[in-house]
Amino acid sequence: MSNERTEIAAMGEFGLIEHLTKNIELQNASSILGVGDDAAVIDHFGKQTVVTTDMLVEGVHFDLMYTPLKHLGYKSVIVNLSDIYAMNAIPTQIILSIGFSNRFSLEALNEFYEGVYAACDKYGVDLVGGDTTSSQKGFIISVTAIGEVPPDKFVKRSTAQKGDLLCVSGDLGAAYVGLLFLEREKKIFMESPGVQPDLEGESYVIGRLLKPEARKDIVEFFASQEITPTSMMDISDGLSSEILHICKESNLGCVLYEDKIPVSEEMKKAAFKFEIDPTACALSGGEDYELLFTISQSDYDKLVLNEQISVVGYMTEPEQGAHIITKGGSKHVITAQGWNHLK
Ligand code: ADP
Ligand code: MG
Repeated sequence: MSNERTEIAAMGEFGLIEHLTKNIELQNASSILGVGDDAAVIDHFGKQTVVTTDMLVEGVHFDLMYTPLKHLGYKSVIVNLSDIYAMNAIPTQIILSIGFSNRFSLEALNEFYEGVYAACDKYGVDLVGGDTTSSQKGFIISVTAIGEVPPDKFVKRSTAQKGDLLCVSGDLGAAYVGLLFLEREKKIFMESPGVQPDLEGESYVIGRLLKPEARKDIVEFFASQEITPTSMMDISDGLSSEILHICKESNLGCVLYEDKIPVSEEMKKAAFKFEIDPTACALSGGEDYELLFTISQSDYDKLVLNEQISVVGYMTEPEQGAHIITKGGSKHVITAQGWNHLK
């Protein structure tokens, strides 16, 4: 990070936009026209288009005391790409709008855009437009992501079938524990600013919070194995609340096995330091950006090829409700707040 500070006011809005977007090279054939006109033009050549948008507000969704701007730029893109993958689609373009006060220098915006472009490069999406405005206070980010899917191959939340296997990608709960560490260190810093943060050994859980990835690989795996999940969504609010969405939208119940929920060793160790239950973190913690999906039992043989996928339960008749079977063998109703066997 450089110590220079360039005032944005001196550049003017058009100078700033030109500066932020001058190196864009469009990489998707579907990106017909990008930044520089009244609107972008996208042509998905016979495929269907998927669109999603998310807004991030300083003080509500992120805290700049412990969120590096480059990570924030990266994450702003990732959370939107995750929603596109959750539709079984491939993201192709994003539109990024920002609002910022004069507290932000050009160098700060450069860092933010470094993260944005790193995510665009990694996931092969084009930044094709946006808007730039000032705000009285704080940083506001709005990202719209656009993706493509072969006709009628998109996957909704509402189409799971009784008997389908309930599956998740990756591991869960780590981002939440990462947040607990950063909040703890922030509190210590506020009370005694001289103290250096003690985050030694917690890079996995903190990385899961600050630099999440979207599960492009899982959607590509589905395509390569000719699997179409029967329902899917991304896990941004914790496993239990997302499972309840699938159950409600699909009008089904489910059985979830606690011992099948994927959690990392790093997360388990970190959770114990806070004396909280790792399962509770997986069920109720947010911001994992993994995929939750159901597949037909006949696809099970193909699924076991992928170590990144865990079968955690199955779908039942709606009358049976949504339940978790604990490691001890007892059965509890799943609630949106999750379920915590310490309480
Ligand atoms: P308009 O007056 O039509 O809203 P703008 O002057 O806001 O146009 O934007 C000019 C061009 O720059 C448009 O193509 C717009 O999409 C793009 N743009 C504006 N702000 C950003 C930004 N922060 N990031 C990327 N593209 C931007
Ligand atoms: Mg504009």
